[in-house]
Amino acid sequence: MMVSCTRLVMQETREKKHLLTPVTDLPSVTPERANALHELGMYRVADLVKHLPMRYETHHGGMTIEAAEALLGDQEATPELVTIETTVIKVSPGWRRGRKSKVEVGVEDETGHMHINWFNQPWVARSLHPDMRIRLHGSLSMRKGILQMNNPRFEEVKEDEPTLTIEGDLRPVYPASERISSSMIATLIADVLEEALLEIDDHLTSNMLDSLSMPTLASAYAMCHKPETIDSSIEGRRRIAYDELLLLQLGVMMKRHHRIDTMRAPELLWNDEIKNRIEARIPFTLTKSQQSVIEEIAGDVTTTTPMNRLLQGDVGSGKTVVALHAMLMAVTCGAQAAMMAPTELLAEQHYKTITELLENSQVTTSLLTSSLTAKERKTRIQQISDGTIDIVVGTHALLTDDVVFSNIAVAITDEQHRFGVQQRALLRNKSDDLHAIPHSLVMTPTSIPRTLSLTVFGDLDVSTIKGMPPGRTPITTRLVQPEHASKVYQYMREVVEKGQQGYVVVPLVEDTDAGLKSVTAHAANLRDGLLRGKTIGVVHGRMKSDEREETMQQFRSGKIDVLVATTVIEVGVDIANATMMIIEHADRFGLAQLHQLRGRVGRGTLPGVCALIASPTTDDAQHRLEAIVETTDGFKIAERDLEIRGPGELFGAKQSGIAPFKIARLPRDFDLLRLARRNALEWIQRDSTLQNSQLLRARLMHVHGEALGLGDVA
Ligand code: ADP
Ligand code: MG
Repeated sequence: MMVSCTRLVMQETREKKHLLTPVTDLPSVTPERANALHELGMYRVADLVKHLPMRYETHHGGMTIEAAEALLGDQEATPELVTIETTVIKVSPGWRRGRKSKVEVGVEDETGHMHINWFNQPWVARSLHPDMRIRLHGSLSMRKGILQMNNPRFEEVKEDEPTLTIEGDLRPVYPASERISSSMIATLIADVLEEALLEIDDHLTSNMLDSLSMPTLASAYAMCHKPETIDSSIEGRRRIAYDELLLLQLGVMMKRHHRIDTMRAPELLWNDEIKNRIEARIPFTLTKSQQSVIEEIAGDVTTTTPMNRLLQGDVGSGKTVVALHAMLMAVTCGAQAAMMAPTELLAEQHYKTITELLENSQVTTSLLTSSLTAKERKTRIQQISDGTIDIVVGTHALLTDDVVFSNIAVAITDEQHRFGVQQRALLRNKSDDLHAIPHSLVMTPTSIPRTLSLTVFGDLDVSTIKGMPPGRTPITTRLVQPEHASKVYQYMREVVEKGQQGYVVVPLVEDTDAGLKSVTAHAANLRDGLLRGKTIGVVHGRMKSDEREETMQQFRSGKIDVLVATTVIEVGVDIANATMMIIEHADRFGLAQLHQLRGRVGRGTLPGVCALIASPTTDDAQHRLEAIVETTDGFKIAERDLEIRGPGELFGAKQSGIAPFKIARLPRDFDLLRLARRNALEWIQRDSTLQNSQLLRARLMHVHGEALGLGDVA
C-alpha cells in the first residue's frame, strides 16, 4: 500500500513542475516576502493556489481624492468601497475615554486632502508616519466640509510594488499578515495562476462532476481567484469545500468499512435472565433512556462486528451503570472487560462503585493505575493475562505494552473528551489474531454537536441518555462578586450544619504572583476563618494516591465536611451528600469545565447550590459565566460554548490530530457535508479501498492517512 502511494505522489511530482516550484524561485519573491509567505503556510506554488480569498471588494482603483469627492456627491457615504493612494501628512495618536481610542490621520494627494479616523485600533498610530505612502480602502463620507474615511483598510505602497492588475471589478482580499499585504499576495497569485491551473488534475470524473453540477478543480480555483461575479466565486468555493469534506468522509467510511468487513469481536449473549440478574444488584430502577441505550449496546455486542459506540449523556445522567451492563455482558460469557478513566481519582471511584455492586458475586475485579508498586503491578498484570480477573478498571496504565488480556470482549473509555480521539483504548488480547478486537464503548458528558459527530466521530454509532434519573432537583447557580464571598461561606456553614457537605474549588496547587488561591493556603485560611470548627480536607493532583484515596474515603463517609480541591474532582466524582460547591476565580475556567465541576453537586435528591466567585475582566469570561448561571442543560451549554469559542474550535482538531478544514465551514456547510457523506458511503461500498481511483486515494492518504490510521486499512 505505502509503496503504490509513494509512487503515485512521485509520479505527480515529475509532471507538476510548476505547482511544485518553491515560492522562493518566483522572480518577485524577495527573501523577506518568502518568510512572510512561509509564515502563512505557503511554500510552493500549489500553496499559493490553495490560498483562497476570504472575501471580495468592488474595486474603484486609482481614484484621486478629487474624483472620490465627486463620486460621493451629496450622498452621506459611498455605498461602494473606494481605493485611494495618498501620502500621510500628520498622525495624531488617539485620545482615550473609558476604553475607546481614536487615531486621527491627515492624508493628501495632488488633488486634495482627507481626514482618516481609526477607532479602537491604537496600533495604527505606530504603523504610520508622515511622508509614508499608503493605499486606503474604505467607504467615504463628508463631515464639516472635510472628506473622510472611518476605519479604512490600509497598506503601505512600496516603491517596487507593481500596481495591481486583477481583471474585472472584483478584487480578492486574501488572508495576509503585517509582513505581506493582501494585494502583494494577489499579485503573486495572479502571476502564477494560469500556468498552475493547467497542471491541476481532477480526482473526480467528468460524469461525477456533471451529476454533482460542480466545476473541475482547476476551474474552481480560477473562479475563486478571478471571479467574474460573486456567484461564480461561491460556486468555485463550493467545489473546493466539497473536496475537503469528501476526503474526510472517505477516510472515515474506509475505516468503518474495514472494521465491519475484516475485524471481529466476540459474540456475546443478552437475554432476560442475564438482564434480571444484573438488575437485581442495582439499588435503583433504570430510566427508560438507560434501558434503551443498554438494548442498543446489546444489539451491537451480540454480533461479531466490533461495536464502536459513543455514549453521550449529561453529567449525572447515569452512564456508569450502563457501562457496567456492557462489561457484565462480557463476563457472563466468560470473557473479560476493562474500563479506562482519565484520572486516578475517577478510576478509584469506579472501581469502588463496581466492586460494591458486585459484592458476593463470582465476578473478580481489579484496579490498575500507575501508582501501584512494581510488585503489585506485576501480580495484577499476570492475573489479567491468565484470566483470573474479569473486570479491570484503570487509567492510561492499562495501555502499556505489558498489559495483555487473556480474552477481552468489552472495552469502555469513560470521559472520552479528556483523552482525544486517537487514544481510544487499544486493549490487546494474547491471541495473535490481528483481526480480533474488543467491542468498544466510549462515554462522554459533552454532547457532541451533530456536525462534529458526522466528521471526526463519523465512525462511531451514537447513543444518548436523555434526561436525568428521577428525583433530581436542578442546581441553583449564582455569580458572586469576590467582596461578597464571606456570605457564601456563611451559607456553606449552614449547609454543613444541616448535615450536608460541600466542595470548594480553586484553580491551582501552588501560590502564584497572580494571587490565585492555592488549595492548601486556601484550606488553611478557611479553617482559621470563615469555616472555623468544620472539618476541612484537601485534594489535588500532586498528592500521593493513597493519601488522596484516604481523604476521599473520609469525605464519602462524612468525616470531612468540606473538601477543598483543584479540578481533579472535575470528572466523575460522585458523592450524593455533597450539595454545595463554591468555585473560586470562576472566570478562569472554561464553560464546559464549569458545567462538569458543578455536576459534582445535586447528584442525590437534595437540591444543589453552586456559587461562582468572580469578577470577570473579559467579555468572553462574562459570557461564559452568564451562560452557566442561565442553564443547567448540558446540550445548551455545549452550543453556547461553541458560539463563544467560535467555529474555529468546532472541529475539535486539536484533540483529534486530524487536519482542520481550510475552506469548509461548519455548520454553514452542513448540507454539503451531508452530500459528501452520502457520496463517500456509496463510493466505499463500490470500491472499499479506492483501488479504482488512485489519484483520489493518494490525496486521501496524504491528507488523512496518518491521523486516521488508514495505513492498516487500505
Ligand atoms: P455520569 O453519567 O455523570 O457518569 P453517574 O453514572 O456517575 O453519572 O451517575 C450519577 C448518579 O446517579 C450515581 O450516584 C448513580 O448511582 C445514580 N443513578 C444512575 N442511574 C440512576 C437511576 N436510574 N435512578 C437513580 N439514580 C441513578
Ligand atoms: Mg461518569
